[in-house]
Amino acid sequence: MDGAGPVEQRAAAFEPASRDAGLAAWACHAAATRGRRCPEPAAPTRTDFQRDRDRIVHCSAFRRLVYKTQVFLNHEGDLFRTRLTHSLEVAQLGRSMAHSLGLNEDLVEAIALAHDLGHTPFGHAGQDALDACMAHCGGFEHNLQSLRVVDRLEQRYPDWDGLNLCFETREGILKRCPLPLAQQWERREPGGVGQRFVLGQQPSLEAQLTNLADEIAYNAHDIDDGVRSGLLSLAMLREVDLFERFHAETLVAHPDLAERGDRRLLAEIIRRMLSAQVYDVIDTTRQRLLREDPASVDAARALPPLVGFSSDMKRASAEMKRFLYRALYRHPRVMATTDAARRIVADLFSIYRDQPGELPDDYGRSDDPMRSLADYIAGMTDRFAIREHLRLTGTRLFPE
Ligand code: MG
Repeated sequence: MDGAGPVEQRAAAFEPASRDAGLAAWACHAAATRGRRCPEPAAPTRTDFQRDRDRIVHCSAFRRLVYKTQVFLNHEGDLFRTRLTHSLEVAQLGRSMAHSLGLNEDLVEAIALAHDLGHTPFGHAGQDALDACMAHCGGFEHNLQSLRVVDRLEQRYPDWDGLNLCFETREGILKRCPLPLAQQWERREPGGVGQRFVLGQQPSLEAQLTNLADEIAYNAHDIDDGVRSGLLSLAMLREVDLFERFHAETLVAHPDLAERGDRRLLAEIIRRMLSAQVYDVIDTTRQRLLREDPASVDAARALPPLVGFSSDMKRASAEMKRFLYRALYRHPRVMATTDAARRIVADLFSIYRDQPGELPDDYGRSDDPMRSLADYIAGMTDRFAIREHLRLTGTRLFPE
């Protein structure tokens, strides 16, 4: 490489295909990505999926996740999960399972870190309120919004809107899509991320895995946060088979934990529960992969979902979800904050709609003013929304 600068030298030493070594045939190989909507030269030292992950970590929607509610509002305590720590836990669980299945860990990490970027402030209460406000203008759904954030709303590059992520990352972010919308996209961008909904196919195995890691992560951390908040107790949780199994197992292995307070006992139960679920997914998925033996990621996309729990674990996990819904998400104390959160989002929407002068100049005006308004509100952190609501209505619904 006579005369080559340091970057060119690094590029010569970096062979993207070598980064895919060790991946199974059914994995997404970075060297075989379907690419970006705006073609770009390859990065000298990173694969395309590593580059996607880095773009996500540096974007402003990612930083805002730290002040967005998972279940408990940010001001309720410093130790509760936020959307940011939730996303990091999903990435951790996803990566560890991906490795055992020969899947692409970098892609799983990128999807995990981006999967909740479209969430409104105040969790599902915020989304429901915004969806109701947008009922006559196409509605609002956080999965679609996550893709909108990375495809359009981030403004960081001179030549395009969004982060210009690879197809495989965008495919993984778009967990759900209504068929009419998918058909519309498919007409506009044939073979794009809407195609699988039209064809009734699955996303990549990395996307399937991240989806399940999301579920495993929130079940486990909502138990932890629920007990920390005082809304759940170990006695209540022991009514759920999955929890009771590991409670009993933990006390057999560590009888002294019964006398040492609930915190250490709970941590050990959750650790065992997480491990059991992770191993169950790895074993079940590996068996399905060996049976179906998809020769490529496209072959895997055409098969029924291959990543999943065994039927026993699926039943146990569903029972835990039903318990959390009943005992935690519908708890009167959580519902009280949910009602206030809904009111903030609905008030903000109607005030901005009727008095557009209250919006900042750079809020992202477009030729679809209602959608731009939804984008603006969805992008808010909990505390920014609380502050704006106080400014515009004089009513304080939450402490800051
Ligand atoms: Mg999530």
